[in-house]
Amino acid sequence: MIQIDGSEAGGQILRTALALSILTQKPFTMTNIRAKREKPGIKEQHLQIIKAIEDLTDSKIKGNKLRSTEVVFTPSKIKKNNITVNISTAGSTGLVLQSLLIIGTKNNLEITIQGGATYGKWAPPISFLQNILLPLLSKMNYNPKIEIIKEGFFPKGGALVKATTFPSKLKPLNITENKKIKEIDILSVSSSSLRTVAERQAQKAETLIEEHFKIKPLTEIKYVPSLNPGSGIQLTIKTENSFKGSNSLGEIRKTSEKVAEEAVNNLIKENQPIDHKTADQLLPYLALSSGKIKTSKISNHIKTNIKLIEQFLPVKFKINKNLISSN
Ligand code: ATP
Repeated sequence: MIQIDGSEAGGQILRTALALSILTQKPFTMTNIRAKREKPGIKEQHLQIIKAIEDLTDSKIKGNKLRSTEVVFTPSKIKKNNITVNISTAGSTGLVLQSLLIIGTKNNLEITIQGGATYGKWAPPISFLQNILLPLLSKMNYNPKIEIIKEGFFPKGGALVKATTFPSKLKPLNITENKKIKEIDILSVSSSSLRTVAERQAQKAETLIEEHFKIKPLTEIKYVPSLNPGSGIQLTIKTENSFKGSNSLGEIRKTSEKVAEEAVNNLIKENQPIDHKTADQLLPYLALSSGKIKTSKISNHIKTNIKLIEQFLPVKFKINKNLISSN
């Protein structure tokens, strides 16, 4: 039984542990789940992922209730390919996929997520997965598809997202150099009810990007139906060897211009070929194959995910300044 101490980490290591436990069929116990967060223990969004995995397999789990700080998970094999995940309110659709995409490296999964947010706080927007994570995974020979049928925003959510995974033999990923920028993309999305918001976000982002990068970005503006008003912006830099980006969310009392400014400022800080949020999400795939990536910041998510992954897989990561390598 693998013993995991979750006290230094967030919910991410639970998602990664569940996925790797299914892939390796190794049981685990996790204690001190999210111990240092304001409200420790399991949150609704983690329960949704546990439920999805229970539905997909006959795995047994003890401790799967709100606020629980300890779970014991005994995995079993995938028993079906189709899964529908229902998310109440504005739970993150991206975080559900974060776990299921790892399982999808070895399994054909047809995933439907009903409800939840496609742009949520402290979580990967689906447009981030589509524009950054998936193109990088494609370089590793893994090509899941993700489709947004309906966008969802905080607080009601109401998204509809479909994803399909295709088992693959992962290839190593080596991205360590900053190469020439080929294109910068702006995707600015807002609810139809917010009239000019998507345009305003995009215009401000265009101006700031042109000022800093001296490149005219390609802009896509989308107005979408949604249960409640909301907006988001996803910025993507395509370089000769990589994809990286940043995003930001519309919120009450945050101007559209501020949303754009936040995203561009974060983009500017991503001065290595892989942005730091993508880096922590790529680690399970690097462990399942091998590779080297250079990222702008070694975050706590990166450190805690590495420690977790090394407990499941025969891999040793090395961090040397901003370079992460796995053998
Ligand atoms: P906690 O509430 O404990 O933080 P959590 O389940 O919300 O738990 P985290 O452990 O914080 O999860 O992990 C969040 C994950 O979402 C990380 O992989 C992080 O890189 C990713 N993420 C957060 N914000 C963004 C964003 N704006 N764009 C892309 N990815 C993001």
